[in-house]
Amino acid sequence: MLVIVALSITVVAGLIAALVFVRNGPKAFAARAERDFAELKKWIGACLEQDLRLLDARLPAPGAEAGYGPPGAETAREYRRLAESHALRAWAADGTTYWREVSACTEALAKAGRELARGGGTNPPCLFDPAHGPSSTTVEWRPGEHGRPRQVPACAVDAAAVAAGQAPAYRYVTSDGGEVRYFDAYGLYASWLLGYFSGFDTDLTARLLAGTPLGAHLPDLIRGTS
Ligand SMILES: [Zn+2]
Repeated sequence: MLVIVALSITVVAGLIAALVFVRNGPKAFAARAERDFAELKKWIGACLEQDLRLLDARLPAPGAEAGYGPPGAETAREYRRLAESHALRAWAADGTTYWREVSACTEALAKAGRELARGGGTNPPCLFDPAHGPSSTTVEWRPGEHGRPRQVPACAVDAAAVAAGQAPAYRYVTSDGGEVRYFDAYGLYASWLLGYFSGFDTDLTARLLAGTPLGAHLPDLIRGTS
């Protein structure tokens, strides 16, 4: 009798647990996904803020361009304002709108960078950190020891570092794995990168970053299939 009661209790407890899982499982999963997305937005938001600060460091003080600063400084400031408004809109957005705002933000940042660049305004951004602005040359680089060497666009500072046998100033970002180079964060920063490379050959980033965790995602992301 005791055994039967104990078994019944176990069965009922099991059924209740199953029912609770069925009823709350999807909700709990959705809550988890929402939390994860909120965290992701924090990481990418911090990245965009850093981009805006990096651009500010390159912008001449207001008024200084009259005869001194780069001719495009005022236009660069307009693109900077546009970039900030997209970053703010991204905070409030979800789903594909969110990723579109992230790309629009970095596209505006790239345009600001091109306005400030003297002579290099039509080159693709520095691959090591696109916030460095348009590249001024290409250097041979390979991702990791076993990566295939290739020519990649680099800013003057990174090109000099690579020529001296040093590591370039890679952009580090926050990810599940802690602080990593942006191309080691799988697809998380793809929209961020593609905004910077907007207007260039769409497969360029996939070719340049082939063999990296991000490079593996880019061909499908560029074609909108994932
Ligand atoms: Zn650079």
